[in-house]
Amino acid sequence: MKQIVKRVPTEFYDIILVGGGIMSVTLATLIIEMCPDKKIAIFERLGRFAKESTNALNNAGTGHSAYCELNYTPEKENGEISIEKALKIAKQFEVSKSFWATLVKKNVINNPSDFIRTCPHESLVFGEKDGNFLKKRYEALRENPLFSQMEFANIPEKIAEWMPLVYIGRDDENNTEYPSAATKMSIGTDVDFGTLTRKLERYLTEKENVDVFLYQEVKDTKPSEKNFKWDIKVKNRMTGEKHWVSCDFLFIGAGGYSLNLLEKSGIKEAEGYGGFPVSGEWLISKNENLIRLHRSKVYGKAASGAPPMSVPHLDLRVIDGEECILFGPFAGFSTKFLKDGSFLDLPESVNLTNIRSLIGAWWHNRDLTQYLVEQVLLTKTQKMEELRKFVPSAQEEDWDTYTAGQRVQIIKKDDKDGGKLEFGTEIITNFEKTLSTLLGASPGASTSVTAMLEVLRAIMKDSSDAEFNTKINQLIPCYSRFDWDSQESIDNLRNNSAELLELD
Ligand SMILES: Cc1cc2nc3c(=O)[nH]c(=O)nc-3n(C[C@H](O)[C@H](O)[C@H](O)COP(=O)(O)OP(=O)(O)OC[C@H]3O[C@@H](n4cnc5c(N)ncnc54)[C@H](O)[C@@H]3O)c2cc1C
Repeated sequence: MKQIVKRVPTEFYDIILVGGGIMSVTLATLIIEMCPDKKIAIFERLGRFAKESTNALNNAGTGHSAYCELNYTPEKENGEISIEKALKIAKQFEVSKSFWATLVKKNVINNPSDFIRTCPHESLVFGEKDGNFLKKRYEALRENPLFSQMEFANIPEKIAEWMPLVYIGRDDENNTEYPSAATKMSIGTDVDFGTLTRKLERYLTEKENVDVFLYQEVKDTKPSEKNFKWDIKVKNRMTGEKHWVSCDFLFIGAGGYSLNLLEKSGIKEAEGYGGFPVSGEWLISKNENLIRLHRSKVYGKAASGAPPMSVPHLDLRVIDGEECILFGPFAGFSTKFLKDGSFLDLPESVNLTNIRSLIGAWWHNRDLTQYLVEQVLLTKTQKMEELRKFVPSAQEEDWDTYTAGQRVQIIKKDDKDGGKLEFGTEIITNFEKTLSTLLGASPGASTSVTAMLEVLRAIMKDSSDAEFNTKINQLIPCYSRFDWDSQESIDNLRNNSAELLELD
């Protein structure tokens, strides 16, 4: 019988994964499917997996598919709507669903409704200008088979039918704060990434070739002094014991703290990268009368000049079987890179290779700093005022505040400005393909499967593309050679995933 959670690691593993979030468990599951002989260790510094960004209430649980997120379809200077990013994200989420569906089919996980449910994705805008933008966006997207089910409305009765809570207490149609248009995709989803991660944790823990370590923090990583690729120093946070462990491939899936561990590795590819932490806060209501009137996720448009993570949204969530409504996020600033991190995380990440990028990014984003300072100073009453733009009838006693996860945005070298701030995610892999990490925060957990397939490709560097693609297609039929222009193919793919994931 396998000892479920080990205390002392062995000297060597083929692959070590740092962190017990959605990224590491996804990668470990892919490795088991594709390279079942590899010996794997996962080190998590906390007492449980999925307690940082992946935890249900630390993120918004949106299965990001670009159905409702207006920042994925920017308006070009010539007035056209750019839909490339939206198409990419919509496909990546189909890849995620397809993989999760395969895991259900193979009995790796069960009861998918514990972690994924259908929840319509709606966009809502106010005023004529944004109403015109939404109409153009709808017209550009619905031409594509991925978005052909999108509906558009600019009459109050229809919008009120889609999102009743947003209409209660609104009386003046001529007010610029009156909704001007909305779109709806009925097949959107709400995902509890924390529950999914813990289901995969249970599966991994039982595998003979996987050792899972809790309360064990990776403190250092350096090229191996033995005959392996990497040596990592792990500290048992319960006993204070320290061990050096070696591996041939290292994945740093430490969420916000990945940057600091990446810097310790000393790989050339990490030079110039920095991190900009942004904390968040939700307003949450468990009032059943409100929940009854709000059965979707409604995304608005970020104020002009505000960063993408400030897009306000009002989301129905189901967490551990209990429903709630969440509004936000309100941004904030903290020098921690993890919710349970240290105030020294940011200062300790600064070094000679990234100081220029950091200063450049800060100088060219002073408006962001000002925005964050303003957000930090908001009182609950002021946050309620923001909420009332969505829910005019909102009462303070129905809503509590809750601190969300930390996002560490990427700062990169930029020849012109010194450094630039990015809002996406990026996988960094060294030239030898023995170490990978994921930096950045968005679109995040929804696209974890595509992101981890990129890391898996580095692990399986000796396979040909054809061999790799054929094997992955058995797990994820839409991974390669899939006809994304065919409505029939997309409908079949979605129906298959929906059936296995028990989506309505
Ligand atoms: C406010 C907010 C809203 C979001 N909304 C969405 C959304 O709606 N949809 C979506 O798809 N994504 C969303 N995201 C992004 C998503 O939550 C993240 O992309 C995803 O959870 C990251 O997973 P991870 O495994 O990389 O990191 P994490 O979940 O942060 O896990 C990292 C793990 O590593 C551990 N760790 C750290 N350092 C060490 C160390 N030295 N040694 C050992 N273990 C260590 C941590 O304890 C943690 O368990 C949101 C994020 C935030 C903050």
